[in-house]
Amino acid sequence: NVKEALLDQKTICGIGNIYADEILIHSKINPFRKANTLSMKECENLLYNAKEILSEAIKEGGSTVRSYHPLDGIDGRMQLSLWAYGREGKPCPYCGLPLKKSKVNGRGTTYCPHCQVPPEEKIVIGVTGPIASGKSTVSKYIERKGYLRFDCDAIVHLLYEKKNIQKKLQEAFGNQVVQDGRIDRKFLLGIVSKDRRKRQDLESIIHPMVYKAIEEGIKKTKQNRIVLDVPLLFGSPLEKLCNATILVTAKDEIRMKRLEERGVDIHKSLSLNEDYPLSEGLKKATIHLETKTTPLLELYKQIDKIRFLD
Ligand SMILES: [Zn+2]
Repeated sequence: NVKEALLDQKTICGIGNIYADEILIHSKINPFRKANTLSMKECENLLYNAKEILSEAIKEGGSTVRSYHPLDGIDGRMQLSLWAYGREGKPCPYCGLPLKKSKVNGRGTTYCPHCQVPPEEKIVIGVTGPIASGKSTVSKYIERKGYLRFDCDAIVHLLYEKKNIQKKLQEAFGNQVVQDGRIDRKFLLGIVSKDRRKRQDLESIIHPMVYKAIEEGIKKTKQNRIVLDVPLLFGSPLEKLCNATILVTAKDEIRMKRLEERGVDIHKSLSLNEDYPLSEGLKKATIHLETKTTPLLELYKQIDKIRFLD
């Protein structure tokens, strides 16, 4: 792999473990990548960064870390500007996501799993938030950046068209739930909004199928930038598929106003979210966005600043 090649003094001379990691993160190349898959442009970039970083290190008197001390006893200063080495779990200078450490041929290797991703690997961004928080606006904007979008609500709509699912829902909520071959969503909302147990019944029928559809979709697609729009992401099986998550929230009065504009029953809709695990979301999400009544352009600017979407 590339890391071994950089350390192999027969291939290229003078690069040690610390600087190999630095050169790779600056070049956004995954250390585990096969060296012979690098393009000429990537090789040139690698060489350029190697020269720049080593010259800077020499100027700074080298890096003084636990395992390396200079002979003359004067400590170097390069360790202060290292991007990767010794920074496991700290934010990547490019994208802000935590750096990861693993071993390549027995040598500790720190890299950004997002920026230094092999080109064929998929990046999944999960967008989540309670009803009318603005999460669809966020996930649709990310879609416009070239991401493939999977939308739970849209998948639920498709599932409701299926005869076997209609039958299951009739068994659980009565025959009236199907009208003229379609699920009567208003009727269903009426039932599940006032009865927590009925709501859990509905979720236990629908959610596993939605999650399965998305998991299969991610596996099948050839696109490697994916955004998920999932109301209940944390604690679901989709959570572990996400490289990063965005929690979208809005103040209650704003959400109520949006629901009113959609012409849906505000209180029934809000009661669907009465158990929403907001504090868990705030703890787990990579990024928290609060949407306001300000123009969408403001929100888009905020999203543009999220470095892991670059
Ligand atoms: Zn990064």
